[in-house]
Amino acid sequence: MDQQVYAIGVKGQKWGDAEKAQWINVQSIKRSYQDEVLVKVQALKDLFDVEQYGALSYDVERYPLLAVKSKNWDANKATILVTGGVHGYETSGVQGAIRFAETKAADYAKHFNILVAPCISPWGYETINRWNPKAIDPNRSFYADSPAEESAALIKLLADLDVEIFAHIDLHETTDTDNSEFRPALSARDAVEHTNWNIPDGFYLVGDTIHPQDEFQTAIIKSVEQVTHIAPADDDGKLIGVDLAQFGVINYATKALGLCAGVTDAKYVTTTEVYPDSPLSDDENCIVAQVAAITGGLDYLLSL
Ligand SMILES: [Zn+2]
Repeated sequence: MDQQVYAIGVKGQKWGDAEKAQWINVQSIKRSYQDEVLVKVQALKDLFDVEQYGALSYDVERYPLLAVKSKNWDANKATILVTGGVHGYETSGVQGAIRFAETKAADYAKHFNILVAPCISPWGYETINRWNPKAIDPNRSFYADSPAEESAALIKLLADLDVEIFAHIDLHETTDTDNSEFRPALSARDAVEHTNWNIPDGFYLVGDTIHPQDEFQTAIIKSVEQVTHIAPADDDGKLIGVDLAQFGVINYATKALGLCAGVTDAKYVTTTEVYPDSPLSDDENCIVAQVAAITGGLDYLLSL
């Protein structure tokens, strides 16, 4: 985790514009938002209202931002928000949100209003990045006057919608590249040393420190457990350096950290963390795990 291992910048000095320019120069498009996301979302038009809520200024034609809303929006129903691709490289977050919309959301729309924003960071999706082109992490930028337009666009969508969100599930992954690339890059950008930790081997959840909703998290873990393995705590009883709240669950201060999971005042909030690099897992298994997390959470809410 020593920042000397990162190719850009000088140890002990924060990145300036020159280092950020160096960083963006080595990024490249590796997959197609059009083919892997937009085509699938547009195909949902018969089942749902598909709305464009913005476009990334880097290339407004290439990066329209789409949200999927249940039809027959009903003020008497509780509203559910599902977000994916806040970190664009975390593939199953995007594909899991789409799969949920394709296969499950219509059933749950009998009980809830459902809003799915499947790919908050399409540039990150295409370039397999955690940051946006300005070397900003959208998932630390969900606050007023956000410097990340990905985050600002979702905040505006929710403000324009102007409904209370009952539950919000934000879909993520924790990957081996977090330790090999993204955390070293962060350490270099900010000229700070990070505590080292191992990437958890399996699925886990990040709840909210202030409103942990333990039973909601438990229900999601039990649902995901049917399809993939849950990450055991490390030797210190932690996951990514944080004490376990319960098996497979840690809590973060979502609002204070500017996380997407803190973007609403929802009573029930969680962030999923799928582990895609396990030999026990594959792309499809990761997508299925994301869907199981959403449906496990929604089934719990229906049981209340
Ligand atoms: Zn993430």
